[in-house]
Amino acid sequence: MSLKEGISLVKRYNKMTPKERDQIKRQRFYAMVTFARKHNPLYAKLYQNLGVNFFMRDVPYVERDYLIANKKDWLSDEIIHMPVNEAINTVRSFSYDSDYARFLFHGSRYVIISSTDGALQQAAWSKSTSVLSVFLPIEEMVSRLNELRPAFLWAYPSTLEKLLEQKRSGILSISPVLIIAGGESLSDELRASLIDAFDSTVQATYSSAEFGIVASECQMGHLHVNDDWIIIEKADVNGKPCAEGDEPDKILITNMFKTDYPIIRMTLPDSVHIHDKMCPCGNPSPWISITSAKDDIIRFTADNGEDVSIHIDEFSSVLKDIKGLTGYQILIYTNNSISVRMEVEDDSAKGILFLQAEQIIRRFLKDKKITASTITLDADTPLRNEQSGKLKNVLDCRD
Ligand SMILES: [Zn+2]
Repeated sequence: MSLKEGISLVKRYNKMTPKERDQIKRQRFYAMVTFARKHNPLYAKLYQNLGVNFFMRDVPYVERDYLIANKKDWLSDEIIHMPVNEAINTVRSFSYDSDYARFLFHGSRYVIISSTDGALQQAAWSKSTSVLSVFLPIEEMVSRLNELRPAFLWAYPSTLEKLLEQKRSGILSISPVLIIAGGESLSDELRASLIDAFDSTVQATYSSAEFGIVASECQMGHLHVNDDWIIIEKADVNGKPCAEGDEPDKILITNMFKTDYPIIRMTLPDSVHIHDKMCPCGNPSPWISITSAKDDIIRFTADNGEDVSIHIDEFSSVLKDIKGLTGYQILIYTNNSISVRMEVEDDSAKGILFLQAEQIIRRFLKDKKITASTITLDADTPLRNEQSGKLKNVLDCRD
């Protein structure tokens, strides 16, 4: 499917009546469940008591941890490539006509910088799409990007931060029309810097290699669910739809095009708020706010024995102002013991920079009444997650 076809498909969906949209979703949901019970050992077992005619609410929900623990059974014996892909979802909240015209004018090239085994790797929607590994050394990544000159660029915020430095120093020469950030949360500061340095539109998405692109940002800054292929539901403790006005016990996600490891009414690991009011931008799809990702809260025991929670965003930025430090990763072990991985401009300054880092971390924790038992320098430089390629500044290494 070409980008143009993808765009017209999305446009058509947005023009449908709520009833028509609902009908399409029901058909796709039914097709996905039917596929999974036939071709997926885990779902076949889960759905053995489900009749042939069912409503969405009748389909048993499934815990994400259960799917991951049973990964072998979770793989389907057949895989169907659905006529949809991540790219359509990516472009859906643009002001299509002007963005599309600019995209064509800039050579229509799309570059995705991601883990090479993630879902985005499959975004083979056009010959002009290239996927670069997030693990490439920065010099190589920059030279590949300078060759490819993307009009659209998709990357993790941690990668964009590196590219920002390269753009500012004039080594990176690309000027994409649109920069799409996904996989990690995009700070307001980084967004503003990217807009300033690249003179591009910057769009945040809620996405992961596991679920695909769930929601894309509109011009109001709201994350609209790509609800023609992804369903997000508020459910009670039994996985039944919540009564109106009730606080949901869980949020369930269904992906209606992913057949290898199907995701059907699965509990979402992140805390998501689904807004009831229509967004003023005119996009009829529901919009959500991510209140916290599962791994976003780090718990410590304070000196007085109380539990203290620190949001990862607060901890993540603690060393960002140290001059000469180009990357870091703080590892937390049991008994409030901490280790720091550092990437520095000048290796001979590493010892001094570490002493600064140690002092800053100690002070940061002290303000929260936590005493770090030891703070040591790790021999490694910051490491990305081997599978997803995401880079986290803070890693909780306790069980
Ligand atoms: Zn909107």
